[in-house]
Amino acid sequence: MKTIREPAREVPIVAAADVVVVGGGPAGIAAAVAAARNGAQALIVERYGYLGGLASGGMVLLLDDMCDQAGRTVGGIGHEIVERMAAAGGCVVPPLEECFRQDEELWWKWARWGFEDFYARTSPRPTTYGASFDPEVWKQVSHEMALEAGVVLRLHSWFSRAVVEDGRVRAVVVETKDGRQAVEGRVFVDATGDGDLYASAGAPHVTGAYMMSLVHRLADVDVERVIQFEREHPQEARLLNQEVKRIFGGSWDFWWLRTPRRGVVWCNTPHIHGLNGLKVEDLTHLEVEARRRFVKAAGWLRTHFPGFERAYVLDAAPQAGVRQTRLLLGEYVLTKQDIVERRTFPDVIGRGRDYYIPYRSLLPRQVDGLLAAGRHYSATPEAQKISREIPPCMVMGEAAGTAAAMAVRAGVDPRDVAIGELQERLAAQGAILGSPIAATARYGGEGA
Ligand SMILES: Cc1cc2nc3c(=O)[nH]c(=O)nc-3n(C[C@H](O)[C@H](O)[C@H](O)COP(=O)(O)OP(=O)(O)OC[C@H]3O[C@@H](n4cnc5c(N)ncnc54)[C@H](O)[C@@H]3O)c2cc1C
Repeated sequence: MKTIREPAREVPIVAAADVVVVGGGPAGIAAAVAAARNGAQALIVERYGYLGGLASGGMVLLLDDMCDQAGRTVGGIGHEIVERMAAAGGCVVPPLEECFRQDEELWWKWARWGFEDFYARTSPRPTTYGASFDPEVWKQVSHEMALEAGVVLRLHSWFSRAVVEDGRVRAVVVETKDGRQAVEGRVFVDATGDGDLYASAGAPHVTGAYMMSLVHRLADVDVERVIQFEREHPQEARLLNQEVKRIFGGSWDFWWLRTPRRGVVWCNTPHIHGLNGLKVEDLTHLEVEARRRFVKAAGWLRTHFPGFERAYVLDAAPQAGVRQTRLLLGEYVLTKQDIVERRTFPDVIGRGRDYYIPYRSLLPRQVDGLLAAGRHYSATPEAQKISREIPPCMVMGEAAGTAAAMAVRAGVDPRDVAIGELQERLAAQGAILGSPIAATARYGGEGA
């Protein structure tokens, strides 16, 4: 490929903090809030104009993987945001007494919210605990949580390069409307989801891939009528659902889910395979091709599916639905076997639904002053597919931010933080480190 040589230039240092979090998605929010609450000056660098990442800009509107078959498994900041969004009127959560039950009526009540156990092989599947939320309420609540904790926000700042000296990250360079800028820090947390920072810093990693989507919402749907039709005419509904999924060219079984907004449904689809979420050409193809498919599907629904007669595309996610790109090769690489067998670890920092995450899977090899939290953490591609939901990403973020603040205070590298103290702090903050429960063979699927 032909290249151009850029001239060297001076970059102004516009800010400095103890803990600099790059990426303001679910993992980054939790990391920055946890670091600030643990006494560090914390700062978030985010490329878009709001916090939330895939949860808000990506319009991934269902929090799952936050319980096992008996109760809640995610606490701390991940649970706090659910409670605050519910208090703000933008989040629906099933009552715990209606969860974990195999009951036909409860299934009809909650399955279309996404509150069913996707991994169960029974019919009906048991109801489960989760949260369905509005993306604007997520933005509002997460901004307030960050600002209340004293986090400095630098939005509209696109990370481009790590400055590494003697094997340690010293600063990050960001691109802004006002030109290139540098932000210095003592400890950095890569929460970009794509490992942009650790890749630039030279940390070992691999690049995985998984299907991509451009999720969207339909408005003016008569949701009760659709559900009644599906209940009274299961065969006819099955054929109609089959046809719309064919138009999408790939979808989960439930291609639409309810949202807290009346008449508005969330479509976690289409599934487009063979794309690389780091490549401009592939991201461009996704934007064009996914729109073609869902506009066609919406037109078809209006004429064929009872309840969708007036439906229209309300909006598509501004952030492309990238599920997997770079994966850290950290101090421990979590495997699918670890997840399926529900292995716990001496350095466990939290749980997803019923699996455990060790602190070492947030620690890069070779590069100091750096932690990685979120969907690009150190896991095999197969393990990441079933452990990358929003709540576990927040669990990782909270652990990374807490550890970063401890490292700053003790004047040590994150890899030398006292694990016992970190675990005690996390537990005191409401995190659920848990103890293992017996493994059963139930992992057939690949998450949402
Ligand atoms: C289509 C789809 C459906 C999904 N369905 C579900 C579901 O139903 N339930 C569920 O819980 N999870 C679901 N997931 C998974 C979940 O959304 C993600 O794994 C999770 O959001 C990852 O959080 P994160 O903070 O690691 O990364 P992200 O959410 O990707 O956040 C990364 C943040 O970093 C910012 N950033 C990235 N690069 C830069 C840069 N260079 N400079 C500055 N900022 C940068 C981004 O703008 C973003 O704010 C789904 C994912 C997809 C794509």
